[in-house]
Parts: sequence; C-alpha cells; structure tokens
Amino acid sequence: MKVSFKGCLWRYALWALLLALAIGFAPAQAQNTGPAAAASNAASAASAFRIQAVDDAWRAALPLDAHAATQAYLDRLPADVVARSNAYYEGGYWLQLWNWLAGLAVALLLLATRPSTALRDWATRQLKWAPLRDGFYGAAYAAAGWLLTLPLTVYQGFVREHNYGMATQTFAAWFGEQLVGLAVSLLMGAVLVAVLYAVLRRAGAQWWLWGTGVMVAFMALAVAIAPIWIEPLFNTYKPVPDGPVKTAVLAMARANGVPVDNVYVFDASRQTTRVSANVSGLFGTAAIRLNDNLLNRSSEPEILAVMAHEIGHYAMNHIPKSLVMFGAVILFGFLFAQWAMRWLLARYGARWRLDAKTGVADVASLPLLVAVFSTYLLLATPVLNTITRTQEVEADLYGLNLAREPHGEAEVLLKLVEYRKPDPGALEELIFFTHPGTRTRIYNAMRWREQMR
Ligand SMILES: [Zn+2]
Repeated sequence: MKVSFKGCLWRYALWALLLALAIGFAPAQAQNTGPAAAASNAASAASAFRIQAVDDAWRAALPLDAHAATQAYLDRLPADVVARSNAYYEGGYWLQLWNWLAGLAVALLLLATRPSTALRDWATRQLKWAPLRDGFYGAAYAAAGWLLTLPLTVYQGFVREHNYGMATQTFAAWFGEQLVGLAVSLLMGAVLVAVLYAVLRRAGAQWWLWGTGVMVAFMALAVAIAPIWIEPLFNTYKPVPDGPVKTAVLAMARANGVPVDNVYVFDASRQTTRVSANVSGLFGTAAIRLNDNLLNRSSEPEILAVMAHEIGHYAMNHIPKSLVMFGAVILFGFLFAQWAMRWLLARYGARWRLDAKTGVADVASLPLLVAVFSTYLLLATPVLNTITRTQEVEADLYGLNLAREPHGEAEVLLKLVEYRKPDPGALEELIFFTHPGTRTRIYNAMRWREQMR
C-alpha cells in the first residue's frame, strides 16, 4: 500500500486483493490509477497545492529541538492547503463505508434474486468439470460486481481525483485502464474461485484453515507476478538516467543486500500528480521503483530519503512478514465466516435457494461469503492499518539511518500532504492511517537530526 511514501504499490496490491474479494472483485488497479482529468484542469488545480518555499539556509537555521523544528516545517503549509488535504483524506473514510455498502448490496442482490443460483445450475449443466464451473461463476460475479459498482468507481477514481486536481488523464484514457483492470480481475477472480472452492469442497469442517492457505498462496502469487505481468499493463518502466542520484541509490541498495542491477522509474504522471515510490514483488521479482513525479518534483536529498525508506522495506522483509500477518487476519475472518454463515444459512438458506448442509462448499454461496468476510474486513481495518503503519515507522527509521537526510525526508513528507491529512488525532490515525501522520513522521526525522547531529 503506499510509500510508504504512499508508493508501496505492493500494499495496494494486497489491499486490492482483499477488497476485490470483499467488493466482488473490483478492478485490481482501481487503487493505483485513481486519478484522472483533463490535463489543463489538473495543472491549474495542482497549483492550489502550495508549500512555502525555503532554502538550505532556512533548514540550517532551524532549532535543534525536534518539536520546534517539526512545527516550523508544518507552519509552511498554508491553512487552505491543510483544509483541502483534510477534506480529501476524510472523504476517503466515507468512501471505505460506501465501498463496503456497495459490495454488500451486490452480494445481497445476487443472493436474493435468481441469477446467482441459476448461473450455478446452468454452469453445472454446461461445464462438467467443477473447477471450470466455479471459475466461470467467479468471473461472472466479478463482472457483475464491476458493472453494478461502476458509478461509485467513476466518482472515486475519476471525478473526485479530478476535483482535487491530482488527475492527469482524460476520461477515455482512464476508462480504458479500468477495462484492462477488469480483464485482470476476471482472470484472477476465476482462478481464485476455482482453486478456493476445489479446496473448500474437500476440506469439510476445516475449510477455514485450508481456505486461509489458498488465500495466502494466492496473495503471494499476485504480489510475485504484479511487477512483471500486471503493473506493466498500466505504466512503462525505464531505467533512471545515469547520474549522481542513480549512483547513490544503487550504492545504498547494494550496501544493504538488495540485489539490483538498475534503478527504474515509471510514468505515473500519465495518471496522477502524486509523488510516490514503491517496493513490490516477491522472491525473484522484488524490486524498488520510483515514479516520475518524485524524480521530477524532488531534490536529490528528497529522492534519497524516499529510496532509503523503500530499501528499508525490502531489507526488513516487510512483504513476506505482511503476508504472514494478513494471513492471520484472514484466518480469524474465515473462522468468523464459518460461524456466521452456518447461522445465516440455517435461517435464510431456503429463501436464497442454498443448501445449509452443503454450506460453504457450494460456489453459489460465494456472495454470502463475500458479504460476511467484507464486513469482517471493514471491522478489522484498524488491525490491518496498524500492521502496515508499524512497518512504515520501521522503514522511516531505517531510511533515516541509511540516507542520513532528515531534511530531505521532511520536505517529501510535506509534499505528501497533497493527498494525506497531515495532523490526525490519535484515534483517527489508529483506525484510518496506513502511515503515521505527517507530524509524527517529520518529528521522527527531526528527532534523528537532534540526536545524531
Ligand atoms: Zn513505506
């Protein structure tokens, strides 16, 4: 999810996958490509994001005291910029609720009306091999979910990003990417549902355990193939031109055991004005990349601070660790689903034309599993965010120790206020933030400066 510096695309990949199951396999790419709008509008609106410019003398003259230095950095954000950032980010809280409700509505619609079981019965007659039938059902569910939630997707991914001036795409270009994302979702949805139900049918009462195994294996597979087969569908990756920045990033990476032959930049400016970088992939495909907005809008110390943070994610094995921890969250979710579905099927199974005895092994009960599991995920949001946020603190500290650029770190953090509320309350941060608030992160950088001078 996001550098980290909001970049960490792999987090997006995990989230997209979890959300995909939750909201009926919405396009896996929705979180990444969000933005869109006419370029001219974006340019004028983007100019609304202003940070008071300073020079090296200003930074050198900052008080050593970490609290005072942090406040001086935050004071460079004009009040209207902070208000706009708060509105954008807080709107995201409501979108999480609307997305859950939309997914729930799609699932309940499929349960309460004929198409779901009719599709299962038709597929059973036409496609004799059970995994083929289940895969077909999974793809059909993904397509129905995509179509029914399209208005929300357009608002969230296009209109809203356009309104906040972060989008750089025309509607046609944006929608084209949504269709590519849909194709990916249909394929991945079909494979996931086919494999999941093949296992659920054989696992009996222990389905929650084996189902978790399938989900974790699938997440690992998705993360591993994303850099080679999925992300290139949306962006072009090129080596960073030779120069001092590239030399310094390669040196930091190699010194910390990251096996890199080159540093890559991707053309995120096609979609957005956001500054970001990410570490994605797994095993042999793991790689660290920065987006062209970061490269073009940032100074060398800023770029090095971000890349050192990403190297920290890699060096501390955050992706494999996340898979294990998210796996535990899924395990409890499936245990909850086992209890909830047993109760719901006993009570409403006949109305939904589902057999309580077959239970979760019937692919036509997938909408019910999605409804129950997505509700669980919504409630587990603070846990998932805390897992991520804890790793972000680790990567920030690792990055400071590696790049030794506390001012570069603080300057980039100010830029991220374009899309992340800078100064959340403690409870708000606990529930909604995948990264610590800007104040906390700048304070960590200024504390490093204060202590390590
Ligand atoms: Zn990060």
